[in-house]
Amino acid sequence: MSSSRSPLSFKLVLLGESAVGKSSLVLRFVKDQFDDYRESTIGAAFLTQTVSLDEQTTVKFEIWDTAGQERYKSLAPMYYRNANCAVVVYDITQPSSLEKAKSWIRELQRQADSNIIIALAGNKTDLASRRAVQTEEAEKYAAEENLLFLETSAKDSYNVSELFTMIARKLPLEQ
Ligand code: GDP
Repeated sequence: MSSSRSPLSFKLVLLGESAVGKSSLVLRFVKDQFDDYRESTIGAAFLTQTVSLDEQTTVKFEIWDTAGQERYKSLAPMYYRNANCAVVVYDITQPSSLEKAKSWIRELQRQADSNIIIALAGNKTDLASRRAVQTEEAEKYAAEENLLFLETSAKDSYNVSELFTMIARKLPLEQ
């Protein structure tokens, strides 16, 4: 198999409460940048990025970053309907954001493609002194629900490429 083969493309959607860092994770992953004063995403934004798994295998993600605000919630099914993977983000300093993440995950489990790969990401680990969700709690929930799980910091660039690589490794690459 030649490495010049065009990469397989997969649709990935980000979901989660507003301000948990969805756009920041995408910005870190796609452009290796971080911005303390980002403006909120309105509706949805689209970006692509590739991940090399080995010399022969490159995966291209088509990333849909959705607005977390309640008023856009009815648009979400349009984005996750034919998604191959979803990253559901919460903020480790905000327990309510984990509850919101769980409700997105229930919705995905009911409404999205049954083969969808779901990753739960606990973002903002750099704010360690304000941590209010313990790693073990989220890890246990993720294991019970068969989700991939990682804690991340878009700010410190911690586990961001690892998150997307972990998802890429679960995708059906033989087509
Ligand atoms: P979104 O609404 O979920 O897309 O969240 P944003 O990406 O717009 O981020 C909301 C706010 O949290 C912004 O002020 C970001 O700079 C900040 N933020 C995002 N990720 C991190 C992180 O890992 N650590 C810290 N300390 N702040 C972050």
